[in-house]
Amino acid sequence: MSQCRLVLILGDQLTPALSSLQAADRQRDILVMAEVVEEATYVRHHKKKIAFLFSAMRHFAEHLRSDGWTVDYRTLDDTDNSGSLGGEIARAAKQHDAAAVTVTEPGEWRLRDAMEGWLDALGLPVDILPDTRFIASHDDFADWAEGRKQLRMEFFYREMRRKTGLLMEGDQPIGGKWNFDAENRKPAKSDVFMPQPAGFKPDQITKGVLKLVAERFGDHFGDLEPFWFGVTAAQAEEALETFIEQALPKFGDFQDAMLSDQRFLYHSILSLYINAGLLDPLAVCRRVETEYHAGRAPLNAVEGFIRQIIGWREFVRGIYWLKMPDYVGENFFNAKRALPDFYWTAETDMACLRAAITQTKEEAYAHHIQRLMVTGNFAMLAGVDPKEVHEWYLMVYADAYEWVELPNTLGMSQFADGGLLGSKPYAASGNYINKMSDYCHSCRYKVQQKTGEDACPFNPLYWHFLERNGDKLRGNPRLGQVYRTWDRMSDEKRADYLDSAERFLEKLI
Ligand SMILES: Cc1cc2nc3c(=O)[nH]c(=O)nc-3n(C[C@H](O)[C@H](O)[C@H](O)COP(=O)(O)OP(=O)(O)OC[C@H]3O[C@@H](n4cnc5c(N)ncnc54)[C@H](O)[C@@H]3O)c2cc1C
Ligand code: SF4
Repeated sequence: MSQCRLVLILGDQLTPALSSLQAADRQRDILVMAEVVEEATYVRHHKKKIAFLFSAMRHFAEHLRSDGWTVDYRTLDDTDNSGSLGGEIARAAKQHDAAAVTVTEPGEWRLRDAMEGWLDALGLPVDILPDTRFIASHDDFADWAEGRKQLRMEFFYREMRRKTGLLMEGDQPIGGKWNFDAENRKPAKSDVFMPQPAGFKPDQITKGVLKLVAERFGDHFGDLEPFWFGVTAAQAEEALETFIEQALPKFGDFQDAMLSDQRFLYHSILSLYINAGLLDPLAVCRRVETEYHAGRAPLNAVEGFIRQIIGWREFVRGIYWLKMPDYVGENFFNAKRALPDFYWTAETDMACLRAAITQTKEEAYAHHIQRLMVTGNFAMLAGVDPKEVHEWYLMVYADAYEWVELPNTLGMSQFADGGLLGSKPYAASGNYINKMSDYCHSCRYKVQQKTGEDACPFNPLYWHFLERNGDKLRGNPRLGQVYRTWDRMSDEKRADYLDSAERFLEKLI
């Protein structure tokens, strides 16, 4: 019998369609899966996120075994566990006398870089295969980006529509427009029929993982229980069907809305499943498209949903691989402030931040507008160091992997790349949050008040941010009107704004 190859399967590669599995031989090769402390703690991930991934890995290993594969699964509490992927693959190579190692490319630059060194460390060939779960390969994105002065999602998205044929009629977009975003900005009202994401009772495997996570990572951020995430492909499919049935038709209309007593609104809560491999992104889009053709969901909802996946998701991945490793160090505004403590405790009088952070702590989830316009907007206005902001987002969300989190945080929400990803900073005063949510009714601050002790802090911080970064932003054509408004204010009013902001910032820990 010829010598075996080891196929390393990472925690976010939980699909039989994976390129490394497609290239493997059931009779000859051994699949290696490992829970390692290094991956769980290089940033101290939310407890729910670790539990989700370990349980989903254990379930996937069972699935592979029942499908005839030999799986060498290393749990975190194996006494010999070396604690790192490099260590575990070296141990496995020795134990199985392997001839080579195959792995599908990891999503993070850090791990990709480490794997380049495995060849020397193991003395074995290491094949790193492309991750074919994406629509655009690294080369596709680099070719598209080549020679463009600005990289804009909208133009890339059109390419992806053409490539996939999603919502296309020949070479034209269905409905005569590529993008229906203008229709997707309605505030929502709570009612008893609001959808809820599918939840799943922990089985024995998950219960074992919950115990392990409580013992080993009890001091990490976030609540471990109640644990309701799906951990298998079948459960993720069920979550998709629940979303389609209950929420998809209104997904577009209320995409930007926020409500105090509704954490999920009409969002899908599918990113954790898609990113871990339990759902295939293109298959999800094709399934959602059928709802439009069957007349069960309107075009603005279906187009809006598909754009998030084949547009934004693919686009941010492209940016990540194009710009790493330098991207993570970018800090356009030279922001230096430490992340305020309340990002960990939710103890703040600002009702919008309290709600977003409380639900992050409890669910390892907040939807896009909470991430962008509440926690992200505040951090940028307050001048928090983007690296600290990035690490927080990477830790606290169940769907967070650097390839998707970093461009969203550093580029989209903090404008720390100076406009590579977005054409202007997503900066907003309290007015925006008040328009899109009901948070302000229960807040100790007054959203209509512009300055002074009781003013909504977003109001003076907004102008303070624009004033202190004027040298970098005044030339931005999309901010011309805003700066004209600032310039037209009396000296006294401007001083009042700046003074209020500074008083607030002085007290910020
Ligand atoms: C500061 C910040 C950090 C973020 N970090 C992450 C992250 O670590 N992981 C992550 O998957 N998303 C991240 N996002 C994007 C987005 O907020 C989440 O994908 C979304 O909230 C997930 O919830 P959902 O499944 O209910 O999404 P829905 O609102 O239902 O959207 C449908 C799907 O579209 C995809 N999607 C939507 N927006 C984006 C986007 N901007 N980038 C990539 N995919 C998108 C997701 O797969 C999502 O499941 C971040 C956004 C911001 C502003
Ligand atoms: S008043 Fe300001 S701080 Fe309070 S909830 Fe509204 S936007 Fe947030």
